[in-house]
Amino acid sequence: MNILIMGPPGAGKGTQAEVIIGEFGIPHISTGDAFRLAIKQGTPVGIKAKEYIDQGLLVPDDVTVGIVRERLQQSDCEKGFLLDGFPRTLSQAEALDQLLTELGRKLDHVVNLKVDRDKLLARLTGRRICKSCGSTYHVLFNPPKQEGVCDKCGGELYQRSDDNEESVGTRLDEYITKTAPLLNFYEQQGLLREVDGELEIDTVSQEIVSLLRG
Ligand SMILES: [Zn+2]
Repeated sequence: MNILIMGPPGAGKGTQAEVIIGEFGIPHISTGDAFRLAIKQGTPVGIKAKEYIDQGLLVPDDVTVGIVRERLQQSDCEKGFLLDGFPRTLSQAEALDQLLTELGRKLDHVVNLKVDRDKLLARLTGRRICKSCGSTYHVLFNPPKQEGVCDKCGGELYQRSDDNEESVGTRLDEYITKTAPLLNFYEQQGLLREVDGELEIDTVSQEIVSLLRG
């Protein structure tokens, strides 16, 4: 089974990816990991990618596609794969289609975790970290006994600067703008499986598994 998982930051994509790979016995292909591996192994595209990264430049699509191509041809992908973090744009999605055709494969499902923007904001901006011991809390899901104070060491809790509403909001808007055409593209191909990511984690997992088994 060849699956692509999509979802905005804070939608619980990592957790659900773990469930899918466990359930279907397929590898989790995160582009970040694939990049690190190719660079570490010094493959031709890995070397190319490293040149861009070292110069602080954006890695062009053809190099990213090359990394994905190498990864998908490894033996653990024979039974299928769960792609995560790629494609991010419509042109990348078209490149992926072409690549899969070359490899004689195709996507079976595109799972999209849907969570309302305000809910994502609340999830992503609720994180608090202890200044002294580094323990993490969440004002909604894992609050400390006393507001602003670490349960473990009594240290002061703070919010990371990139967890504030403005930067999180910008990140979310960027994601939504970039991926909307992508979702449309997969919907037209009849591959899009929308899942309500606002439900309990276990309920979301059950929903995904039953959709994929369907
Ligand atoms: Zn602490």
